[in-house]
Amino acid sequence: MTQEELFKKLVAHCKEYGFVFPSSEIYDGLGAVYDYGQMGVELKNNIKRYWWDSMTRLNDNIVGIDAAIFMHPRTWEASGHVGAFNDPLIDNRDSKKRYRADVLIEDWIAKQDEKIQKECDKARKRFGDAFNEEQYRSTSPRVLETAAKRDAVLERMSKALNDNDLVELRQIILDCEIVCPISGTRNWTEVRQFNLMFSTQMGSTADGANTIYLRPETAQGIFVNFLNVQKTGRMKLPFGIAQIGKAFRNEIVARQFIFRMREFEQMEMQFFVRPGTEMEWWNKWKETRMKWHRALGFGDDNYRFHDHEKLAHYANAATDVEFKFPFGFKEVEGIHSRTDFDLGNHQKFSGKKIQYFDPETGESYVPYVVETSIGVDRMVLQVLSAAYKEEKLESGEERTVLSIPAPLAPVKACVMPLVKKDGLPELAHKIIADLRFDHNVQYDEKDSIGKRYRRQDAIGTPFCITVDHQSLEDGTVTLRDRDTMEQSRVAISDLNTIITEKVGMKQLFEKLL
Ligand code: ATP
Repeated sequence: MTQEELFKKLVAHCKEYGFVFPSSEIYDGLGAVYDYGQMGVELKNNIKRYWWDSMTRLNDNIVGIDAAIFMHPRTWEASGHVGAFNDPLIDNRDSKKRYRADVLIEDWIAKQDEKIQKECDKARKRFGDAFNEEQYRSTSPRVLETAAKRDAVLERMSKALNDNDLVELRQIILDCEIVCPISGTRNWTEVRQFNLMFSTQMGSTADGANTIYLRPETAQGIFVNFLNVQKTGRMKLPFGIAQIGKAFRNEIVARQFIFRMREFEQMEMQFFVRPGTEMEWWNKWKETRMKWHRALGFGDDNYRFHDHEKLAHYANAATDVEFKFPFGFKEVEGIHSRTDFDLGNHQKFSGKKIQYFDPETGESYVPYVVETSIGVDRMVLQVLSAAYKEEKLESGEERTVLSIPAPLAPVKACVMPLVKKDGLPELAHKIIADLRFDHNVQYDEKDSIGKRYRRQDAIGTPFCITVDHQSLEDGTVTLRDRDTMEQSRVAISDLNTIITEKVGMKQLFEKLL
């Protein structure tokens, strides 16, 4: 199965099992907007709790807030979003399709990488065991030529983006002979800047309505509350403010399912530090955040850092944590050193002093900020794409299983009476009544036990509990493990302890310390 096929299957699976639905589907959906179903919302809530508790509970100096989506419009002038939150767009005149100019070029670059990889694979076949890929990459004239072309284009693009040179961006597209994937032609318009913020009106028109924006990031809600939290919480630098909330971006090209949405959710933490110490903190947060991802057990090699060459208008250092999705390594989280740009500008635009008095140095200053910013939806996609597996069993049967880390699984256990009579359903309900205070548990009495197992595998339930006639006699049940499929006989009175040990967040948190 190719990665593309795998991804298609995953998207279909998400819909079939109630994880993600297209928004307003009965009206044929709305571009790049999605709804979470009964399973998706549980997974999403668990991811949020993993993040929230790891930030606010495991760190004495991080507290949370929940700011409004609507903010005073001046906020977005101060933050630079009104002036500079743009993507370069280009249209193909034949297909009338719109693209991000930088993404077209990035796709071309990725194709060169694929070409190089194909050359290496071909050579490996030719040379067999003696093949040394590293040596081949550094000596094969064809590979070197493609790599040089690729590097030159990457450099031109970075410079054009940095210089805001839209004519040059278009020229690169022409020079690389990039065609529209729909029309196959090179009939491109000029490149234009496109602001990604959604706007709406607040107040009645008669009163003179104000244009306000749907926030494109949650961070600004934290910055404008810096003094409120610092003073009321008696916080001392360094300290952080965490927030989870919706953000909105009118993305030009929305692709790859919930990877790029127009309405999405962010988990952001702004860490305020003394100027001059920001690089040390930036490095520390890089390490801490990578640990958080890796604790999920999806394989260390599936993550990498990608340091930014083009820095955003507010940053003096930035890196992305990238995860290997079925469509390649892509950003799930950004870790940015934002300097004093935001607080400094809010001070300027609002006319209110936003400073911190440092009791250690006896000075007042605008703190520097290191931000960690992660998309909840991209995390959901990370978990699902790492967890989705199609397995052939020894019995010859096949199963689709989501091996979601147990603490994040939507349903923790399903209780199943072997038959629908003889008092077995009653006992099953009694077990659920006891477990439901601590865990999300389901009841299922329909179809064969095998079929019921498959249904739970497909939504990633770590445990299935079968109640049979022996249960009535000796108070034991069969406990089946999702991953090993092993079954063991355990006492009903031990169930809660066994399940709690496996599905508790504690085991993840312990890996972070
Ligand atoms: P990209 O380069 O993919 O557009 P970005 O660099 O603009 O992302 P940031 O502004 O750093 O993203 O936002 C922080 C995080 O918010 C990202 O790492 C991502 O997880 C999430 N995010 C950003 N835009 C979207 C979106 N359109 N849909 C879903 N998640 C998003």
